[in-house]
Amino acid sequence: MLVQALFQAEGLIASRIRAGADGGIDLALRETPHGAVIAIVQCKAWKAYPVGVKPIRELFGVMHAENAPRACFFNSGHFTSEARAFANGKPLELIDGKGLLSRLDALEDGRRDAIFAKITAGDHTTPTCPSCDVKMVRRTGRNGEFWGCRSYPRCKQTFRI
Ligand SMILES: [Zn+2]
Repeated sequence: MLVQALFQAEGLIASRIRAGADGGIDLALRETPHGAVIAIVQCKAWKAYPVGVKPIRELFGVMHAENAPRACFFNSGHFTSEARAFANGKPLELIDGKGLLSRLDALEDGRRDAIFAKITAGDHTTPTCPSCDVKMVRRTGRNGEFWGCRSYPRCKQTFRI
C-alpha cells in the first residue's frame, strides 16, 4: 500500500495485483488508466536478510513474460552486491529502505502526510499474510506466540511477534 501510494503521489496509476496469483508482482504501473503497463513492481519487507540475486532474476523473467518494459523491486532492507550487479545495465530498478525514504522525502509535506494517514488507517499492527492477503491471527506454539495465517493448514505463513 505504501509503494502504491508513493507511485500515485508521483502521478502514475498503480494497480495492486492480488497476492499469490501473479508470479510475484505486487503492482502494475501505467501512465493512463487504460494505457500499457510501463513497469511491474515487486515489494518485500526483508529486514533480517538482504535480497539476493535469485528474486531479482525471477522478477526479470516475469518482466519479459508480461512484456513490461521495466521492473522495480522495493525492499525495506538491503540488496546483495550480486543482486545490484545483475540489475546494473538492465531496466531493473532496485530500491532499498533508504531509497524508499528519500522518495517519500521528495514529496510535498501534504502528500506525504496523506500517505502516512492512509497506510496507518485501521488495524495496521496486525500483519497481513503476503500469500493470502488476509489479516493474520495470534497463535501460541511450542516456542511462544507467533502470527499465523487464517488459512492454516492450507497456508503455513508465520511471522515472529
Ligand atoms: Zn496465508
